[in-house]
Amino acid sequence: MGKNNRNSGNQNNSSNNGSQRRLALAVLLVLLLGFFWFMVTDNPAVKGFRDRYFMEQSGSAEEQGGSGTEEEGNSTRSSSDGTTESSDGSENVAELDSSALPEYNGAHYVTVNGNTPEFPDDVYTRAGLVNDGGTWKTEGSKAGKIDSGKLTPYEYYGELDGLGRCTVAYGCLGEETMPAEGTERGDISKIHPSGWAKAQNWERCHLIAWALSDENANERNLVTGTHYMNHDGMRPLEEEVEHYIWNTGNHVLYMSRPMFSGNELIPRGVQMTVWSCEDQGKGMSFNVYCFNVTPGAEISYVNGIVTTEEQAAQEARLYVVNKRSGVFHYPTCEGAQSIYKKNRMEVTATRKELTDQGYVPCGYCEP
Ligand SMILES: [Zn+2]
Repeated sequence: MGKNNRNSGNQNNSSNNGSQRRLALAVLLVLLLGFFWFMVTDNPAVKGFRDRYFMEQSGSAEEQGGSGTEEEGNSTRSSSDGTTESSDGSENVAELDSSALPEYNGAHYVTVNGNTPEFPDDVYTRAGLVNDGGTWKTEGSKAGKIDSGKLTPYEYYGELDGLGRCTVAYGCLGEETMPAEGTERGDISKIHPSGWAKAQNWERCHLIAWALSDENANERNLVTGTHYMNHDGMRPLEEEVEHYIWNTGNHVLYMSRPMFSGNELIPRGVQMTVWSCEDQGKGMSFNVYCFNVTPGAEISYVNGIVTTEEQAAQEARLYVVNKRSGVFHYPTCEGAQSIYKKNRMEVTATRKELTDQGYVPCGYCEP
């Protein structure tokens, strides 16, 4: 009896289970379809929600950039390419790797290593600092104490490499290394840093600014840089350091390192790292990578040729090419008229077509 009852009960249960299972499957199907729709729909309200809560975590930079999402505090988050992006849109790089330098994303610089300075030991030791259980102090000082009087201000400029490129500049900078008041800047026009190309609006960019180092025509301290990097990216940071030194009389460890991609002659960017000594980085501490770009222009980091948007949009016209030197001119240029007949070639092309083929615009007629 009891057994039968139990059996019939089971049968009831299993037929209940059957309809419940069908219901559950139907609900699941509806949920799946809904979720699918949610993930692919272009409905703006849903898309906005989706981007905010899903895409950000998957680290798609395009989705994150400038989408105007709500503030999320100052936290940084990881993304798939090994960089992190903070809520203000500026990216952070864990460390700089010359084979995979960060892509320009619209900001003058990105922070490196969470904006925390990192220097080779030599940078500290030349300044007279000794490592004391993970912190730096001046010799004979209490733990964690850096005494101004015991610091050794210095500047170091690394030798040019085999391609004639700057390598690194660093030092312990203070009033001692800065130009005395009233000093005039010297002429640096004789220096042609690696990749320098005439008439391409390049600037000679100090690795350590003149105002901090009193260095003028030092070929180990000058790289080929855009106005955008030199003036808009690096200079405000250099001025901060300068003001800090004037205001406090303190010193800073300073390192400036051009980053080249492969054998290119013009750096893709310059890393600037600064740490104030006497206050252990409280006054001044950053680690950034400034982009050597001109927004809207295409730069050849191999030969220094810059193509602006207007130049890229130019229509085909007549140019005179010197086949021997690879330089091209406007037909009216004196340089074009003095080319030997056998080296002379007239072509109708756009400027971009010529530079893409490796021809170099004349520095005089500036085609
Ligand atoms: Zn010319």
